[in-house]
Amino acid sequence: MLVMKFGGTSVGKPERMKKIANLVTSTPGKKIVVLSALSGTTNALVSIGDNLTAGRAAKAEEEIVALEKHYHAFIKDLYESEAFHAIGQEIVSRYFILIRLLAAGQFDVKSYRELLAQGELISTELFYQHLQERKISSRLLPALHFMSIDENEEPELEKISQRLKPLVTSLTNIDIIITQGYICRNHRNEIDNLKRGGSDYTASLVGAAIRADEIQIWTDIDGMHNNDPRIVKKTVPISELTFDEASELAYFGAKILHPSTIVPAQKYNVPVRLKNTMDEKAPGTIITSKGTEGTFKAVAVKDGITAIKIKSSRMLMAYGFLRRVFEVFENYKTPIDMITTSEIAVGLTIDNDANLSSIENELKKFGSIEVDKDQAIICIVGNKIVDQKGVLEKVFASLKEIPVSMVSSGGSANNVSVLIDKQYKEKALNALNEGLFGLK
Ligand code: ASP
Ligand code: MG
Repeated sequence: MLVMKFGGTSVGKPERMKKIANLVTSTPGKKIVVLSALSGTTNALVSIGDNLTAGRAAKAEEEIVALEKHYHAFIKDLYESEAFHAIGQEIVSRYFILIRLLAAGQFDVKSYRELLAQGELISTELFYQHLQERKISSRLLPALHFMSIDENEEPELEKISQRLKPLVTSLTNIDIIITQGYICRNHRNEIDNLKRGGSDYTASLVGAAIRADEIQIWTDIDGMHNNDPRIVKKTVPISELTFDEASELAYFGAKILHPSTIVPAQKYNVPVRLKNTMDEKAPGTIITSKGTEGTFKAVAVKDGITAIKIKSSRMLMAYGFLRRVFEVFENYKTPIDMITTSEIAVGLTIDNDANLSSIENELKKFGSIEVDKDQAIICIVGNKIVDQKGVLEKVFASLKEIPVSMVSSGGSANNVSVLIDKQYKEKALNALNEGLFGLK
């Protein structure tokens, strides 16, 4: 069985939605189709929710009117017959009545999350009816019946699997099962979500839950690229990656995948294939447990990084020092990205500086503190590159014009990370593109 996930741009125009209907029907075998909301919808719902939270009801209503108009135009082009236009009208009206009911009530975080869920609910229903109109047999399987997160907002993969497997098996003669990305129930059984961009995560959870043969993530670019196409002119798609390489890249700014996507797929060794809806023939990127070793695959950048250096003579020969330092970050629920140590100092980076001043105050107990904001981590990824000769030499030769303030290598065999000031980000990515990949 396959999982095929289509993102917002792949369903964002009526002709694209028709195109993915063709793609799904021409792909042999049974599949679960995971859809995002139409592009722009979740952003619009966030804005409506923010306005309602701030008490700007009139502004929210203006945005609801605009969004509703967009959907009415959408269904006009999606459906052919009178009968299905009427069905489309009924769907859109029903969702917008619900949206207005939510807006009119006590608008709390619970209503906000319910509001955010409407995007995926409506896109899947519109798609299902499109298949109905074309007499293509399919079923709509509500994600809220099987997708759940626990009190720490972690997906409950085993429970999801226990619920989903029998549901899928019961649909014996159905090849196309449609469900919503992004949305789920939380431990209070309320409607919740897997955070922005979470439809990829849904696809991976579904794929892992049913032990699919493959999880396909269809987007609007031809796979993962060796460098950031927003910053570097010439980039190339990567044909194959290991799960570990892909996780590093997804976390470090490669916007194509939600950072947690790889985890469930890797757990049950389900390959993930990234494909392009605009260019179906392009090979895309395949992510599996095995891959070419020892070559540079990609570089990625993450900015908005704050570096903190703690210098303390008490660290000299002391044990337990790092634990006490880490505890400060733990108390403020602040993840640490990169870390380097010397005998009397420790340097680390964070990307969430919401509690920076409190953290700084507590760290002062240990010694002198130095904080640098606006830093960027450049992450150089390649399966087992760290075991290769000359890897660091190549990296630093490429970066010779750029001051590097921290280096981390050997933490995993697949990644070398360097910290630079954000102002050098473009220069560094271009230099690595040329030095490591010969691309100019
Ligand atoms: N619609 C959600 C978002 O825009 C989830 C997704 O598309 O992955 O964040
Ligand atoms: Mg996405």
